[in-house]
Amino acid sequence: MFTGNTLKLVVDGAIANLQFSSQQSVNIFSSQAVDELRQALTELESVELDGLIISSDKKDFFLGADIAEFQPLFAQGEKAVSGFLQKNIDNLNRLEALPFPTVGCVNGMALGGGMELLLACDFRVAEPGAKLGLPEVKLGIIPGWGGTVRLPRLAGADTAIEWISSGKQFNAADALNVGVLDAVVPKDQLIPAARDIIAQVAAGEREYKGRRGVKHSPLALNRIEAGLVFESAKGFVAAKAGKHYPAPVAAIKAMQEAASCERNEALVIEMKYFLSVALGSTAKALVTVFLSDQALMRKAKKWAAKAQGKCDRAAVLGAGIMGGGIAYQSAVSGVHVVMKDVQQKGLDLGLTEASKLLAKQVERGRMDSKAMAEALVRINPTLGYDDFNHIDLAVEAVVENREIKQKVLQEVEQVLDEAAVLASNTSTISISALAQSLARPEQFCGMHFFNPVHAMPLVEVICGEKTSDDTIASVVAYALALGKKPVVVNDCPGFLVNRVLFPYFSGFAMLVRDGVDFQRIDRVMENFGWPMGPAYLLDVVGIDTAIHAEQVMAEGYPDRLQRNYTSITEKLFNQKLLGQKSQAGFYCYDTDKKGKPVKAVNPNALQLAGIDANTDSTVSDEDIVLRMMIPMVNELNRCLQEGVVDSAAEADMAMVYGTGFPPHIGGVFHWVDQLGAVELLDKMRVFEALGPLYQPAELLLEKAQQSASYY
Ligand code: NAD
Repeated sequence: MFTGNTLKLVVDGAIANLQFSSQQSVNIFSSQAVDELRQALTELESVELDGLIISSDKKDFFLGADIAEFQPLFAQGEKAVSGFLQKNIDNLNRLEALPFPTVGCVNGMALGGGMELLLACDFRVAEPGAKLGLPEVKLGIIPGWGGTVRLPRLAGADTAIEWISSGKQFNAADALNVGVLDAVVPKDQLIPAARDIIAQVAAGEREYKGRRGVKHSPLALNRIEAGLVFESAKGFVAAKAGKHYPAPVAAIKAMQEAASCERNEALVIEMKYFLSVALGSTAKALVTVFLSDQALMRKAKKWAAKAQGKCDRAAVLGAGIMGGGIAYQSAVSGVHVVMKDVQQKGLDLGLTEASKLLAKQVERGRMDSKAMAEALVRINPTLGYDDFNHIDLAVEAVVENREIKQKVLQEVEQVLDEAAVLASNTSTISISALAQSLARPEQFCGMHFFNPVHAMPLVEVICGEKTSDDTIASVVAYALALGKKPVVVNDCPGFLVNRVLFPYFSGFAMLVRDGVDFQRIDRVMENFGWPMGPAYLLDVVGIDTAIHAEQVMAEGYPDRLQRNYTSITEKLFNQKLLGQKSQAGFYCYDTDKKGKPVKAVNPNALQLAGIDANTDSTVSDEDIVLRMMIPMVNELNRCLQEGVVDSAAEADMAMVYGTGFPPHIGGVFHWVDQLGAVELLDKMRVFEALGPLYQPAELLLEKAQQSASYY
């Protein structure tokens, strides 16, 4: 009846099947799909049928809008965005007005625009493994095709608030429970179940017009109830999302304002709130982050496709904080892992840590105790090398000492199979230098995890001078198997993330040197969006670890990182105030009576920094941000120019995934693009007297001269 590039409409007797069958790998609402749906609806409006079934011939029912189209669309402004939205709003309204019942059949995922399409159907059935959700807030926007209108009318305000403001995916059983689905049936029964529903309507055993009436009417809540539900949700959601992420609250406001309205009026309100967030800076940044993540993962998968076989058995040397974390992450991802240490105490600690993390998964219902036991069995703790045959990949994570690492790497290389790959989790030691003592340097590279391993998504895969592409491919594949985000970088002191983070810490040290209270710097940077300010972050990293890394960086980049003053970090180190690990650094760490961690400023640190009640710095909050960010911007520019990292997008994602750089800012380069390189250079001039860290990197100057951007 109608065949396009994204869908097929076929009539079989009195029932039509609209099958989304994109020529791409997934069904998404590209502008083409929106247009073809419009054409298919015109066909449908001209025939007499008993019903319509909407299904997919892909692994998933339907993912959301085409996010790659967002950036150019949003850049055209309000009129273009509302025009685009309106086309599919009209489509879904027409779908909801067809003179026969409609049934959506969900296989796999139905997300975003796909979920909104489903909500416009009269009935919904899904396979047991289906996942449904409206994840728009994760991109800084809200549903714009009637999601905030139809979901609360269909499933109630509480459910809609939970689904829309969290952006989470829900499984079929949850969706059935709250009335989003009418039935859950095996995948091969989806179409027969939909046909049954249509037959029941034809036989007068079910009705669909009343269902439409509910979706067209105001919410079934009186004013007081609506006020209670939405007001309390707004407070809770605002606190959870934080001020930098306005979309979850905007979605609730849209639902609240439209609660007493009929559908069409409610859709206008939804559009108003959609535009208010879609054209803002957070959506822009989050869309960039989403697209950069996709690019990063595509590249990683390309690498992994070249790997010679998959890693079934891994080994980790050192069962400390990192080794234990890597062993846990491997085991929980289904990889058998031999965990070796030189002391039983180390092994016990590693295993206890893994058990604790697994128990938490069980507690949160993410794993059952059988799966927990199976994961634990995958970790094989040992003090010797007997179990090292048939290991595919070994990660060294012993203490950060070049001689010890070289000795361990040599030892392990001898016991590994010839084909096995060896990697080091060193934070600072040159991969090319470590490779010098190895017989097979081409089978060696860096694999730098971040602490805590289970929570931090980034893994830097570091290519030494002699590392082969096969080795990188194997390590990238292993990182992906562990659910991580691998970024391949070239060897240099600090690799990518630490190379950029330490100039940021230097900016911090100079601010403290110049009399700015570190508590204020933390507050300003946390307001900027960092999960923790630099002083707190240094406490978490460990003051001793930071000092050690700083020394390596200063040796690597003496022109900009060597100091002619004693930094606050050095002063803390000299007093053995090592941060969280010694319960005191910039802050003191204790627990209250209920065992909850408590953090309070350390008076000793204030004294060492020369800060007292009379401290009154003239540095403004904006200057604090700039003095912290400029060293980072400059260093990241150098990394990009030197080819340490391939692209601005990968560099930004590494900072987001490795340091918690605020996603609502979209990354360091995205930040510069939004500010403009010329404007940033202008602001930088004031600080040039602070030294080389504040002198613009060549690439930044080039961008400004050419009025070019990084993206
Ligand atoms: P850790 O001190 O917690 O653990 C080191 C472990 O190695 C100890 O259990 C020790 O007994 C063991 N060990 C020492 N010599 C050994 C040998 N010859 N064979 C086997 N085991 C041996 O250290 P960590 O914090 O886990 O750091 C390990 C590595 O990871 C270091 O290179 C560090 O720079 C790097 N790293 C650490 C972090 C972090 O935040 N802790 C982050 C990224 C990378």
